[in-house]
Amino acid sequence: MSVMTETIAGIIWFAGLVGWYIIRQPFERRAKKVTVSQSFFDRRESTLLVIAVFGLFLIPAVYVLTGFPAALDRPFIPAIAWLGLVPLIGALWLFRRSHADLGRNWSISLELRERHTLVKTGVYQHIRHPMYSSFFLLGIAQALLLPNWFIDLSGIVGAGLLFSFRVAREEELMLKQFGGEYRTYMANSKRLIPWII
Ligand code: SAH
Repeated sequence: MSVMTETIAGIIWFAGLVGWYIIRQPFERRAKKVTVSQSFFDRRESTLLVIAVFGLFLIPAVYVLTGFPAALDRPFIPAIAWLGLVPLIGALWLFRRSHADLGRNWSISLELRERHTLVKTGVYQHIRHPMYSSFFLLGIAQALLLPNWFIDLSGIVGAGLLFSFRVAREEELMLKQFGGEYRTYMANSKRLIPWII
Protein backbone atom coordinates (compact mmCIF):
# COMPACT_ATOMS: atom_id res chain seq x y z
CA MET A 1 0.00 0.00 0.00
CA SER A 2 2.91 2.31 0.65
CA VAL A 3 3.68 2.98 -3.00
CA MET A 4 0.63 5.23 -3.29
CA THR A 5 1.69 8.87 -3.02
CA GLU A 6 -0.08 12.13 -3.81
CA THR A 7 1.86 12.40 -7.05
CA ILE A 8 0.94 8.88 -8.12
CA ALA A 9 -2.72 9.51 -7.27
CA GLY A 10 -2.60 12.65 -9.42
CA ILE A 11 -1.05 10.72 -12.29
CA ILE A 12 -3.74 8.02 -11.98
CA TRP A 13 -6.44 10.69 -12.06
CA PHE A 14 -4.83 12.22 -15.15
CA ALA A 15 -4.55 8.81 -16.84
CA GLY A 16 -8.29 8.36 -16.24
CA LEU A 17 -8.93 11.67 -17.96
CA VAL A 18 -6.82 10.61 -20.95
CA GLY A 19 -8.64 7.25 -21.04
CA TRP A 20 -11.95 9.10 -21.04
CA TYR A 21 -10.85 11.24 -23.97
CA ILE A 22 -9.55 8.25 -25.93
CA ILE A 23 -12.82 6.35 -25.39
CA ARG A 24 -14.90 9.26 -26.66
CA GLN A 25 -12.90 10.02 -29.83
CA PRO A 26 -14.24 7.35 -32.21
CA PHE A 27 -17.82 7.94 -31.08
CA GLU A 28 -17.50 11.68 -31.55
CA ARG A 29 -16.10 11.16 -35.02
CA ARG A 30 -18.94 8.82 -35.96
CA ALA A 31 -21.58 11.16 -34.52
CA LYS A 32 -20.51 13.87 -36.96
CA LYS A 33 -21.73 11.69 -39.82
CA VAL A 34 -25.24 11.25 -38.41
CA THR A 35 -27.71 14.00 -39.27
CA VAL A 36 -29.35 15.81 -36.37
CA SER A 37 -33.07 16.01 -37.03
CA GLN A 38 -34.02 18.09 -33.97
CA SER A 39 -31.73 20.00 -31.65
CA PHE A 40 -32.46 21.35 -28.17
CA PHE A 41 -28.86 22.41 -27.65
CA ASP A 42 -29.53 25.89 -26.26
CA ARG A 43 -27.77 28.37 -23.96
CA ARG A 44 -28.93 26.50 -20.88
CA GLU A 45 -27.57 23.16 -22.12
CA SER A 46 -24.20 24.62 -23.11
CA THR A 47 -23.91 26.30 -19.69
CA LEU A 48 -24.54 22.93 -18.02
CA LEU A 49 -21.84 21.32 -20.17
CA VAL A 50 -19.34 24.05 -19.27
CA ILE A 51 -20.12 23.58 -15.55
CA ALA A 52 -19.57 19.81 -15.81
CA VAL A 53 -16.31 20.25 -17.75
CA PHE A 54 -15.05 22.70 -15.11
CA GLY A 55 -16.00 20.49 -12.16
CA LEU A 56 -14.79 17.19 -13.57
CA PHE A 57 -11.81 18.25 -15.72
CA LEU A 58 -10.52 21.82 -15.55
CA ILE A 59 -10.68 22.49 -11.80
CA PRO A 60 -9.01 19.16 -10.84
CA ALA A 61 -6.46 19.63 -13.66
CA VAL A 62 -5.46 23.02 -12.22
CA TYR A 63 -5.23 21.38 -8.79
CA VAL A 64 -3.01 18.53 -9.99
CA LEU A 65 -0.73 20.91 -11.91
CA THR A 66 -0.50 23.82 -9.44
CA GLY A 67 -1.82 22.59 -6.09
CA PHE A 68 -4.44 25.37 -6.03
CA PRO A 69 -6.45 25.80 -3.75
CA ALA A 70 -3.86 24.49 -1.24
CA ALA A 71 -5.70 26.11 1.68
CA LEU A 72 -8.37 23.43 1.31
CA ASP A 73 -6.00 20.45 1.26
CA ARG A 74 -6.93 17.51 3.46
CA PRO A 75 -4.57 14.77 4.68
CA PHE A 76 -3.57 12.30 1.97
CA ILE A 77 -4.54 8.76 2.97
CA PRO A 78 -3.08 6.12 0.62
CA ALA A 79 -5.89 3.61 1.31
CA ILE A 80 -8.50 6.16 0.21
CA ALA A 81 -6.58 6.92 -2.96
CA TRP A 82 -6.38 3.18 -3.70
CA LEU A 83 -10.13 2.97 -3.23
CA GLY A 84 -10.49 5.66 -5.90
CA LEU A 85 -9.34 3.16 -8.52
CA VAL A 86 -12.62 1.26 -8.19
CA PRO A 87 -14.95 4.09 -9.32
CA LEU A 88 -12.36 5.25 -11.85
CA ILE A 89 -12.25 1.89 -13.61
CA GLY A 90 -16.03 1.59 -13.23
CA ALA A 91 -16.53 5.03 -14.80
CA LEU A 92 -14.36 4.23 -17.80
CA TRP A 93 -16.01 0.87 -18.32
CA LEU A 94 -19.53 2.30 -18.06
CA PHE A 95 -18.68 5.26 -20.26
CA ARG A 96 -17.40 2.96 -22.99
CA ARG A 97 -20.37 0.55 -22.67
CA SER A 98 -22.92 3.41 -22.78
CA HIS A 99 -21.35 4.78 -25.94
CA ALA A 100 -21.27 1.34 -27.54
CA ASP A 101 -24.90 0.62 -26.63
CA LEU A 102 -26.27 4.06 -27.53
CA GLY A 103 -24.41 3.98 -30.85
CA ARG A 104 -25.53 6.50 -33.43
CA ASN A 105 -28.20 7.93 -31.10
CA TRP A 106 -25.61 9.68 -28.93
CA SER A 107 -25.27 13.46 -28.79
CA ILE A 108 -23.25 15.65 -26.48
CA SER A 109 -26.46 17.55 -25.72
CA LEU A 110 -30.18 17.08 -26.18
CA GLU A 111 -30.72 16.12 -29.79
CA LEU A 112 -32.65 13.70 -31.91
CA ARG A 113 -30.80 12.03 -34.74
CA GLU A 114 -32.21 11.00 -38.06
CA ARG A 115 -33.87 7.56 -37.58
CA HIS A 116 -33.29 7.83 -33.81
CA THR A 117 -34.04 4.55 -32.07
CA LEU A 118 -34.84 3.96 -28.42
CA VAL A 119 -32.08 1.95 -26.75
CA LYS A 120 -33.14 -0.17 -23.77
CA THR A 121 -30.65 -3.02 -23.90
CA GLY A 122 -27.11 -3.54 -22.65
CA VAL A 123 -26.25 -1.10 -19.87
CA TYR A 124 -29.53 0.68 -20.71
CA GLN A 125 -31.55 -2.31 -19.61
CA HIS A 126 -31.78 -1.38 -15.94
CA ILE A 127 -30.81 2.29 -15.97
CA ARG A 128 -31.85 5.04 -18.37
CA HIS A 129 -28.79 7.27 -17.86
CA PRO A 130 -25.67 5.09 -17.59
CA MET A 131 -23.52 7.79 -19.14
CA TYR A 132 -24.53 10.22 -16.40
CA SER A 133 -23.88 7.46 -13.84
CA SER A 134 -20.37 7.24 -15.28
CA PHE A 135 -19.93 11.00 -14.71
CA PHE A 136 -20.88 10.54 -11.05
CA LEU A 137 -18.42 7.64 -10.76
CA LEU A 138 -15.72 9.85 -12.24
CA GLY A 139 -16.56 12.55 -9.69
CA ILE A 140 -16.32 10.02 -6.85
CA ALA A 141 -12.97 8.77 -8.17
CA GLN A 142 -11.71 12.35 -8.26
CA ALA A 143 -12.83 12.90 -4.67
CA LEU A 144 -11.03 9.77 -3.45
CA LEU A 145 -7.83 10.31 -5.46
CA LEU A 146 -7.22 14.03 -4.91
CA PRO A 147 -6.81 15.16 -1.27
CA ASN A 148 -8.53 18.53 -1.31
CA TRP A 149 -11.99 19.43 -0.02
CA PHE A 150 -12.78 21.73 -2.93
CA ILE A 151 -11.73 19.15 -5.52
CA ASP A 152 -13.64 16.44 -3.62
CA LEU A 153 -16.80 18.43 -4.25
CA SER A 154 -16.23 20.04 -7.63
CA GLY A 155 -16.61 16.87 -9.73
CA ILE A 156 -19.68 15.56 -7.93
CA VAL A 157 -21.32 18.99 -7.98
CA GLY A 158 -20.49 19.45 -11.69
CA ALA A 159 -21.97 16.06 -12.57
CA GLY A 160 -24.90 16.71 -10.22
CA LEU A 161 -25.83 20.04 -11.80
CA LEU A 162 -25.63 18.65 -15.34
CA PHE A 163 -27.75 15.68 -14.36
CA SER A 164 -30.33 17.58 -12.27
CA PHE A 165 -31.03 20.26 -14.82
CA ARG A 166 -30.91 18.02 -17.88
CA VAL A 167 -32.58 14.77 -16.97
CA ALA A 168 -36.22 15.90 -16.83
CA ARG A 169 -35.92 17.65 -20.19
CA GLU A 170 -34.23 14.62 -21.71
CA GLU A 171 -36.92 12.25 -20.49
CA GLU A 172 -39.62 14.62 -21.72
CA LEU A 173 -37.98 14.61 -25.13
CA MET A 174 -37.82 10.80 -25.15
CA LEU A 175 -41.46 10.62 -24.06
CA LYS A 176 -42.51 12.95 -26.86
CA GLN A 177 -40.55 10.94 -29.39
CA PHE A 178 -41.24 7.38 -28.22
CA GLY A 179 -44.48 7.73 -26.23
CA GLY A 180 -45.74 4.54 -24.62
CA GLU A 181 -42.57 2.65 -25.43
CA TYR A 182 -40.54 5.06 -23.28
CA ARG A 183 -43.22 5.09 -20.59
CA THR A 184 -42.97 1.30 -20.29
CA TYR A 185 -39.18 1.52 -20.30
CA MET A 186 -39.37 4.09 -17.48
CA ALA A 187 -41.58 1.78 -15.46
CA ASN A 188 -39.03 -1.02 -15.85
CA SER A 189 -35.83 0.91 -15.15
CA LYS A 190 -34.22 3.44 -12.83
CA ARG A 191 -32.29 6.56 -13.72
CA LEU A 192 -28.79 5.99 -12.35
CA ILE A 193 -28.38 2.93 -10.12
CA PRO A 194 -30.01 -0.39 -11.07
CA TRP A 195 -33.10 -1.16 -8.92
CA ILE A 196 -32.35 1.76 -6.58
CA ILE A 197 -32.64 5.27 -7.97
N1 SAH B 1 -28.90 10.06 -20.72
C1 SAH B 1 -28.29 8.98 -21.46
C2 SAH B 1 -27.80 9.44 -22.83
C3 SAH B 1 -26.82 10.56 -22.83
S1 SAH B 1 -26.45 11.16 -24.47
C4 SAH B 1 -27.19 8.37 -20.62
O1 SAH B 1 -26.83 8.95 -19.59
O2 SAH B 1 -26.68 7.30 -20.97
C5 SAH B 1 -27.78 12.28 -24.70
C6 SAH B 1 -28.68 11.94 -25.88
O3 SAH B 1 -29.11 10.61 -25.77
C7 SAH B 1 -29.96 12.77 -25.91
O4 SAH B 1 -29.83 13.68 -26.97
C8 SAH B 1 -31.09 11.78 -26.16
O5 SAH B 1 -31.71 12.09 -27.37
C9 SAH B 1 -30.41 10.45 -26.27
N2 SAH B 1 -31.01 9.37 -25.47
C10 SAH B 1 -31.18 9.34 -24.14
N3 SAH B 1 -31.68 8.15 -23.73
C11 SAH B 1 -31.82 7.41 -24.86
C12 SAH B 1 -32.27 6.07 -25.12
N4 SAH B 1 -32.66 5.27 -24.13
N5 SAH B 1 -32.27 5.64 -26.41
C13 SAH B 1 -31.87 6.45 -27.41
N6 SAH B 1 -31.42 7.69 -27.23
C14 SAH B 1 -31.40 8.18 -25.99
